[in-house]
Amino acid sequence: MDNSSLINDLLNPTKQLTQQKCKVGRMLDMLPDDTSDAMKKAIELIRTTQYQGKNKTYSSVWLSKVLRKNGYPISPSTIQRHVNKECSCEQSD
Ligand SMILES: [Zn+2]
Repeated sequence: MDNSSLINDLLNPTKQLTQQKCKVGRMLDMLPDDTSDAMKKAIELIRTTQYQGKNKTYSSVWLSKVLRKNGYPISPSTIQRHVNKECSCEQSD
């Protein structure tokens, strides 16, 4: 268990408050680079294919299932908000 992020948050309370991200954004921050890159690609694919109708492989429901299977329970609606850039990650930018 790596507690450096927790220590950092505890020592930087103002930084934490100004950079509130959604569950997906916080997870991306926590993950190692190769893993977060793969997840960002999946989110981008959901974003680009969701209006095409044909390719339903990548969806927020699919990503939610994948994450849950790997020990990260995040609901499809939370993922969908991040995909649609309606979450707090975008508002803090
Ligand atoms: Zn987000």
